[in-house]
Amino acid sequence: MTYKRPVRACARCAKRVITGWCWPDGFVCVSCVRHGVRRRGPCPSCGKERPLPGRDGAGVAICVDCAGITTSFLCETCGEEGELWFKRTCLACSLARRLREALDDGTGQVAPFLEPLLAALASAPEPWSGLTWIGHAPVRARLSALAKGETPLTHEGIDTMGAGQGREHLRGLLMVHGLLPCRDHHLMAFERWERDRLASIEVPSDRQVIRLYLAWRHHRDLAARAEAGRLTAQALTTARSRVNTALRLLAFLRERDVGLERCAQADLDAWFATASNSLAAVDFVRWAIEHRRCPRLVLPSTLRRSAPPPPSSSERSRIIARLLSDEGVALAERVAGLLVLLLAQPVTRVCALATTDVLDRNGEVQLRLGGAPVTLPQPVGELVREHLGDRPHLRTAAHRASPWLFPGNSPGQHLTASQLASRLRLLGVTVATRKAALHQLIGEVPAPVLADALGYHPTTAARLSAELAADWSGYAASRAAGHRTI
Ligand SMILES: [Zn+2]
Ligand SMILES: [Zn+2]
Ligand SMILES: [Zn+2]
Repeated sequence: MTYKRPVRACARCAKRVITGWCWPDGFVCVSCVRHGVRRRGPCPSCGKERPLPGRDGAGVAICVDCAGITTSFLCETCGEEGELWFKRTCLACSLARRLREALDDGTGQVAPFLEPLLAALASAPEPWSGLTWIGHAPVRARLSALAKGETPLTHEGIDTMGAGQGREHLRGLLMVHGLLPCRDHHLMAFERWERDRLASIEVPSDRQVIRLYLAWRHHRDLAARAEAGRLTAQALTTARSRVNTALRLLAFLRERDVGLERCAQADLDAWFATASNSLAAVDFVRWAIEHRRCPRLVLPSTLRRSAPPPPSSSERSRIIARLLSDEGVALAERVAGLLVLLLAQPVTRVCALATTDVLDRNGEVQLRLGGAPVTLPQPVGELVREHLGDRPHLRTAAHRASPWLFPGNSPGQHLTASQLASRLRLLGVTVATRKAALHQLIGEVPAPVLADALGYHPTTAARLSAELAADWSGYAASRAAGHRTI
């Protein structure tokens, strides 16, 4: 026969649970106890500054002594009163102890070269996230391998650890805290993909030409963007898709018994007429022609089909009104959504804004997007200022003094464009609404001015003007120069 503990209703939240404490104000569930002890301030009853887990008759939060609670929240290690983890130690002491265990170099001491990591992680203002992190066995195994010298503390050493989200998080922490030189995480991911992809190509001549295509056409470009801090996940996806399609094209040509160098217009036309996602090969063929690896052939136009009609301006106004006033929406999302809808900024640029792009000039909030800073209208400026003072994630060790306006989940990184885009999509902020915003702006501001202030390429602004049949004849001429989508 097994003893079953009774399910009881919590006196504070009414949730029906098994575990809790019997306190003077009734049975209190674990989660209400935790919330209570996290609340700190002067006790209204005795005036002492301490955690306030108790409740008086009127439901006001008071300290344990005034509430007659005998449960102790004193940490046996540091003597501080607060939320306890196991073995009657507070969260911060528990985190420090678990970190010391994981970073032990085998002599019972923390490996000296990892002391800075211990110091940084153990002093995080919010130890919860650190405790959750160190709770994962693969995390402890990786830290231990570094501490014992089994894995060298280098980027190459980290590469040899099993792949997975946790590995890149660890790399990010080591970079943020100065134990590894900073390198762009997108570029590193691409380099790993490059190595694996090249190794998987079986035909030596294909491998050779793709190696050159990767090195001269993609790697250099991606490295330059990373250097400028502008490398996005989308750019990697595009490069990967182009390389994969190029490989499919090479196989297609081999089946027709012609190599790239003997490829005729009819072969190329057959590819574009029959292959799936065939246009992704245009970039490769263009590169091959330029580098005389393929005869001079005519390529199909890569003009995009026209986009669906933009949402009505009343729909956009409704979304803007909600972002301005709905406090139920996270402030970061309101601010990001407003920048997209009012300033027609692409999500890829919004997510990568730095705190130094926000300027406070004589009480006005300005944002640097392209050339001269743009003054934000009120109350948008005020919301940006408020957000700047209370950015999420800053209380964890991953984001000390983050330079980003929208810090992400990974150490030292900003939110990714896809993370931000998917959150904004739920609020109705989409590519279509941004384009509608841009069209409206173009109707009001001359394209060259817009291009400068909002950081758009002049060609892009001019092309959109032309689409709107606006009278920017001088700029319309540059349409032919490029058909980049925004
Ligand atoms: Zn409760
Ligand atoms: Zn008290
Ligand atoms: Zn403690």
